[in-house]
Amino acid sequence: MAKPETKPKSAAAKAPATVPVLLPLALPAPYDYLVPKGMTVEPGQFVVVPLGTVEYLGAVWTRPEDAETPKIPRKKLREIIEAVDEVPPLPPVSLAFADWVANYTLSSPGMVLRMMMSARRAFEPPAPRYGVRLAGPAPDRLTPARTRVLEVAANGMIWAKSALGEAAGVSTGVIDGLVDAGTLQAEPLPEWHAMDLDLDKTRAKLTKEQANAARDLLDNTSGGFSVTLLDGVTGSGKTEIYFEAIAVAISRGKQALVLMPEIALTSQFITRCEERFGARPAEWHSELSPSVRGRVWRAVAENKAKLVVGARSALFLPFPDLGLIVVDEEHDQSYKQEERVAYQARDMAVVRGSLGGCPVVLSSATPSIESLVNAEQGRYRHIRLGTRYLAAGLPAIAAIDMRADPPERGKWLSPVLVEAVGETLARGEQALLFLNRRGYAPVTVCRNCGFKFECPNCSAWLVEHRFRRRLECHHCGKFVPIPEECPNCGAEHSLVPCGPGIERIAEEVAELFPDARRVLLSSDLTPGISDLRETLREIEDREVDLIIGTQLVAKGHHFPGLALVGVVDADLGLAQADPRAAERTFQLLNQVTGRAGRETISGRGLIQTYMPEHPVIAALVSGDRDTFLAREIEERRKSIMPPFGRLAALLVTGSSREAVETYARSLARAAPPAAKIHVLGPAEAPLSVIRGRHRYRLLIKASREADLQAYLRLWLDAVPKPKGDVRLSVDIDPYSFL
Ligand code: ADP
Ligand code: ZN
Repeated sequence: MAKPETKPKSAAAKAPATVPVLLPLALPAPYDYLVPKGMTVEPGQFVVVPLGTVEYLGAVWTRPEDAETPKIPRKKLREIIEAVDEVPPLPPVSLAFADWVANYTLSSPGMVLRMMMSARRAFEPPAPRYGVRLAGPAPDRLTPARTRVLEVAANGMIWAKSALGEAAGVSTGVIDGLVDAGTLQAEPLPEWHAMDLDLDKTRAKLTKEQANAARDLLDNTSGGFSVTLLDGVTGSGKTEIYFEAIAVAISRGKQALVLMPEIALTSQFITRCEERFGARPAEWHSELSPSVRGRVWRAVAENKAKLVVGARSALFLPFPDLGLIVVDEEHDQSYKQEERVAYQARDMAVVRGSLGGCPVVLSSATPSIESLVNAEQGRYRHIRLGTRYLAAGLPAIAAIDMRADPPERGKWLSPVLVEAVGETLARGEQALLFLNRRGYAPVTVCRNCGFKFECPNCSAWLVEHRFRRRLECHHCGKFVPIPEECPNCGAEHSLVPCGPGIERIAEEVAELFPDARRVLLSSDLTPGISDLRETLREIEDREVDLIIGTQLVAKGHHFPGLALVGVVDADLGLAQADPRAAERTFQLLNQVTGRAGRETISGRGLIQTYMPEHPVIAALVSGDRDTFLAREIEERRKSIMPPFGRLAALLVTGSSREAVETYARSLARAAPPAAKIHVLGPAEAPLSVIRGRHRYRLLIKASREADLQAYLRLWLDAVPKPKGDVRLSVDIDPYSFL
């Protein structure tokens, strides 16, 4: 029988409400706080709360539906100090995403929130900024520099001083002079330039293959969540195609995000966006100044930034209305973050898409095995493009068998490669030599006593950097000047470099081709992003003949004049004990040789190797990607490696080897038995010491059906926490095994 509903005594209306507040700290969960009278807060709202004697900025969180109300007596709870109203609350999808990522990676949700809040200045009142605009007559004294500024400013737009200086190629002093002369006038800059994207500004006329691909892609991306693997050879026009999907998303009023593995790549992309859409996208990466970071963060949160291009961390921006995520070069290793919250941005992009009901596009010329298997099994849609847009065909790849055509003693380039470079340069075309190793030589040895220079803090050799005249550790950054005599036996002039680094190749090339305009590109030699962008532009404009570079040049760039790519040591990556070594080498070498012949010039790739019969080299030479990948996939299936099985790595580190080993062993002993989960190790890590900390690893292998996270939680909650300076870190889906 139905009883008349009795109104519950509204105790909650009298007593102040409590809400969970998540702080950007390594805490296991949100803490509860009282909402003071007169304050209203909603989930996602930023608030200032006390913790101990300190005030923190945190976010009001949601309680899981099955969670019990807190048991802490109300008297013990503290009040929220302030609700931050100037910044929009985190959208609900950001809260769900943070919880999901924390849960999956076994990290503290607060540390994920910290990534989401990594723009301090967004929470401070924005300082007014001044720009300049053309206002008065030209000054009496007109230098060429001043003329250039006037030309650029002629459009009457308001310019940030630095942007105007950059566009006109002058120092800001020239601009200040024009302000003093009354020609330019200072005005407050708008906080965020409204992005007036013109979605039809310059649409490429797509080829038939491209148009079909674009139609399929738009079919896939027009609804809610879906994942599409856009799989097309280098230069096939993948970017043009996903531009169409971006245009559609933005035309619906939504935001679009493009992730790129390398911030150096974003500059060409931004130029292309400007050509395509008539406006610059917002940029997000680690090299932005704090104030730009703050502005971009706010513009995203306020739904003013419609198109964002960024590094992996851009995934954690507070998009309220994201309508498309593109992960460019989706196979790239740098999408994996190893430190703090260890996450794979490509995988988390798919999660973000699914939580936000938003389509995801994964683009690559050499997709990851993970994505290919997902496509094969029907979880992802698969669009393929087999032909290059501009060039007649893909570069012709050949292996140079270093056993048959060895270099001269003490040299690293085979006569076959040297001849090919010579021919290329003689035709007025560009050549690129690629070696994925920074510095001059990886090891330095004393000829007299055999002493090798080792890092005092790491189990690694010191690498000679000849330009900087020092020996450097690539793991901890320690460096020493190159000594005159052997520190061990005192012999003079006895130290010899062993093996090549990119600087040594540059030296060899300088002797061989002294007249060629050469440029050496290596992350340690290009100090800032703007220098790097300038160098890339010079290459693009054919102001350079010969490029010698590390993987900085391997990815994504479009160099129209590049005809020949020589790979100095193709075997480098294959020697590593890593389940993905073959896949990764194939991807890298396909990428770098794919830089050649992208337009009218026909391209060539030459690969120096001591094992030309290796399946990776054979696949590169034959261009038969599918057979190679099918074999790799079969291997993974048989050995139950990802994506057919799941991995987690536990890393124990500490200053005492005994303490680390003891703890790692006790961990292994405490592992709960489980049918479909195997615990391997502990074993000393291949890189056994970094920064004076000893390292032991355990590897957990699970079948796909097993709940790896639940297993790890059960296990790790039951073992005592490590003591002293011993640390345990968890890496779900590890990509590094060193
Ligand atoms: P991918 O991303 O597959 O490597 P891109 O989209 O960068 O290929 O295209 C390679 C080059 O060809 C770019 O310079 C691009 O502007 C040009 N391109 C591709 N398709 C077209 C098209 N339909 N019309 C004009 N230019 C195109
Ligand atoms: Zn070191």
